[in-house]
Amino acid sequence: MSTNPRHPYREEYLKAAHRHTIYNRSEIEASSVCCCYYCGHQFHPRDPGIELFYTDVNNRKGLDETSLCPMCGIDSVLGDASGFPVAEAGFIQAMTTYWFDGFSRIDAEMPIEKVTWTRIEVE
Ligand SMILES: [Zn+2]
Repeated sequence: MSTNPRHPYREEYLKAAHRHTIYNRSEIEASSVCCCYYCGHQFHPRDPGIELFYTDVNNRKGLDETSLCPMCGIDSVLGDASGFPVAEAGFIQAMTTYWFDGFSRIDAEMPIEKVTWTRIEVE
């Protein structure tokens, strides 16, 4: 067991939480609050008007789709149905520091804002 001095959560705990960010469609849909630990966006997946995005990672048949953040599009979304404290700012900070190593919108202190996607046509 190792503890990172930058945050109070054990590495194993943060790794376990990370496993809930893939193939997590049913978990996200069962959650009442979700948070993205890349940009810090928090949302309620069953709110009317919320648009959920998923990707079929590697097209693995029989596995759930993977949730993408409705704000920034990164696959770093955790729902409270995972059992992790997604509404705790300290936990989200620990996740972003551990997994993005200082290179996230949260660590860059960038505001939460909607990323617009541009379709690029390739011949
Ligand atoms: Zn995000």
